[in-house]
Amino acid sequence: MLKNIILMGPPGAGKGTQAKKLVSEFNLVHISTGDMFRDAIKAGTELGLMAQSYINRGDLVPDEVTIGIVKERLAMEDCASGFLLDGFPRTIPQAEALEKIGQEISRPIDVVINIDCDKNELIRRISGRRVCKNCGAPYHVDTMKPKVDGVCDICGGPLYQRKDDNKDALEVRLGHYVNQTKPLLDYYQNKGLLKTFDGSIGSDVLFDDLTKLIRGQK
Ligand code: AMP
Repeated sequence: MLKNIILMGPPGAGKGTQAKKLVSEFNLVHISTGDMFRDAIKAGTELGLMAQSYINRGDLVPDEVTIGIVKERLAMEDCASGFLLDGFPRTIPQAEALEKIGQEISRPIDVVINIDCDKNELIRRISGRRVCKNCGAPYHVDTMKPKVDGVCDICGGPLYQRKDDNKDALEVRLGHYVNQTKPLLDYYQNKGLLKTFDGSIGSDVLFDDLTKLIRGQK
C-alpha cells in the first residue's frame, strides 16, 4: 500500500472531499495547510493573525511559514503510519523543502495524486461552495445540498461561505495555481511520482480509482 501521499489540484478540483474520504478509508493523518491556517485564524493565534490577510486576498502564505508548520506536523509520531498532504506543497521551494524533510525523518513521498479540472467547472464549484464551520464538511448550493438549509448533515454545525471563495480572490488563487503550483506537476513527473486523474468524473468514481491506486491495484 502507498502510505505517504500528496494530493494536488487547483482550488475546487475536489481535493478536500477526496482527502476526507481517503484518510478515513486508509487511516492516514490528514495534513491540510489550509485547514491549519483556518484553525489558527479561528483561535486568534499569532500564526492566524499573520496568515489571515494573505488568505483573504487569495495570496499564498510565505514559504518559510508554511514549510515550518508542515515540518513540525510531519515529525509527529502519528505520521509514521502514513499521511496525506492536502494543499502542500504549492511552490517549488516547498516541494524541495518537503523532499529534504522526508529524507531527514525517513518518511519519503510514495505518490503524488493530481486531480485535474477545467476552469469553468472550478468557478462553478467554488462560487457555490459552502463549508461546515465545525467539522469542515463540504457542500454546494446546487449539487450537494444539506438536508436542512444551512445546517451540516454530519455534525449539525452552521454552513458558511469561505472569505476566499469569492470571484476576486478566486482569480488570484487560480493565478497562483497556474504560475507557482502547476510547475510542480513536471517536478513530480520527472521523479516518476505523478498520477493524474480527471476531477470532473463523479466523486464516488474518482474515490474508487484513488483507492485502487493506493492499494497498488492500478
Ligand atoms: P486551501 O484550503 O488549500 O484552498 O488553502 C486556503 C489558503 O491557505 C490558500 O489560498 C493560501 O492562502 C493558504 N495556503 C494553504 N496552503 C498553502 C501553501 N502550501 N502555501 C502557501 N499558502 C497556503
